[in-house]
Amino acid sequence: MAEASYDVAVVGSGPGGYVAAIRAAQLGLRVAVVEQGELGGVCTNWGCIPTKALLHSAEVYAALKDGGALGLVADGLRVDFARVIARSRQVAETQRKGIGILFKKNGIVHLPGRGRLRPAAGGGGVQLLCNGQPVPARHVVLATGARPRRLPGIEPDGQHILTYVEAMSLPAQPATLLVVGAGAIGVEFAYFYNALGTRVTLIEALPRILPLEDEEISQQVERSLRRQGIHLFTGARVTGVQIDPQGVVAGFLDRSGQPQTARGERLLLAVGVEGNVEDLGLQDCGVQVERGFVQVNEWYQALGPGGAVVPGLYAIGDVIGGPLLAHKASAEGIACVERIAGVPERDIHRVDRSAIPAATFCRPEVASVGLTEAQARQAGREVKIGRFPFRVSGKGQAAGETEGLVKVVLCARTGEVLGAHIVGGSASDMIATMTLARAAELTATEISHTIFAHPTFAEVLKGAVEAARGEAIDL
Ligand code: NAD
Repeated sequence: MAEASYDVAVVGSGPGGYVAAIRAAQLGLRVAVVEQGELGGVCTNWGCIPTKALLHSAEVYAALKDGGALGLVADGLRVDFARVIARSRQVAETQRKGIGILFKKNGIVHLPGRGRLRPAAGGGGVQLLCNGQPVPARHVVLATGARPRRLPGIEPDGQHILTYVEAMSLPAQPATLLVVGAGAIGVEFAYFYNALGTRVTLIEALPRILPLEDEEISQQVERSLRRQGIHLFTGARVTGVQIDPQGVVAGFLDRSGQPQTARGERLLLAVGVEGNVEDLGLQDCGVQVERGFVQVNEWYQALGPGGAVVPGLYAIGDVIGGPLLAHKASAEGIACVERIAGVPERDIHRVDRSAIPAATFCRPEVASVGLTEAQARQAGREVKIGRFPFRVSGKGQAAGETEGLVKVVLCARTGEVLGAHIVGGSASDMIATMTLARAAELTATEISHTIFAHPTFAEVLKGAVEAARGEAIDL
């Protein structure tokens, strides 16, 4: 074909790929999306969305079980595990169908199949193939995502050793579960199964759970999960597993270097993810891949030998590395195609890496943005710290959500919000306010001069900022 049929072809339809495709179509580009699996990628089908459905069931169950304190008695309450799973699958399917509808609405062509690159005839640039057939496109955006990392000798078999995919679609609730790795996936599944009554053992190699969070926040979550009944080992690296008729036995060295074992009917391996970079023809096209992630420049152009740009090839989302978050992938997708479409640089939605929020949807919820206290101090910043506990909040008391706190890290000189860390309340929603503050470089003065509705969890944010200024009213 002499002329390109598409302006942009996106490989992968997760929150990076499908959002990039729609934004490109909005900007008037002709767009195709090559997807070998289900539209929506991991986030929609096996990640963010179905796990939030599962977690909601767990939260409601836990709230009803403990309803006595609220004057509610739920006799005969029990878990119908099959329905919990079925509802989660249904929610994922609804979301997936929604993406198909959006593609039609935006005139995006969905090409089902496996995408692969080869060097363009005549040199310089790449050609995209879908199931071996050329897809003529001027620009190719790789958004192939990531998959669970494996540990040597601990191979997921879908039966005894699970990844998150099997863990969210089990046919029956296990009586006991081992979870290896206490990042977001490990903690969310540990919370979910424990809340439903499974005896959960959570094993984390680093000295604390959710190791990317501020240390105080990790400690709070750890105390809470222990109180909820999760058996937790930190500083404990799992070194091997054995499968026997009763399930799985994990061997690990505990904090003091002593060998220990823990047993579960099944084991969830949640030790991180790695980029989907294999069998894409990247090597043939000279694309640089380091530690499993495609290397790109600030405009998401793929880099080749010597750091030169590979013409017409871009990559976004998990496949270019962390933070491995859906909303980061979407933001990168938008910036990438806006640049391709020729949007003036000053108008492009650039990704500010210091203002990417993170959330873990256990109970109490955890969310954060920006620098931890330790990171700010390491960066040589002079900081002011403010803390406000939920137990002081009227809303917290009324809602029976008294656990946790908001911690803010402010620049001591300017009052700029360098970081905000929440455990408790509606942390994942509340963090939006502090993300806006961070992105807009707001200071403590502006937040403190803003009127927050009463009584709300959000007041705890303002309380923490005021506490940093020595002006908290309710402390
Ligand atoms: P992760 O990298 O966040 O956590 C993995 C944990 O496993 C680490 O704390 C690590 O120290 C531990 N670990 C590694 N080897 C171990 C061993 N041998 N024994 C014991 N512990 C070991 O990865 P994840 O939780 O698997 O999640 C994958 C990615 O998906 C992350 O980047 C995460 O941010 C993202 N994710 C985000 C959300 C969310 O935003 N709510 C939810 C799920 C996943």
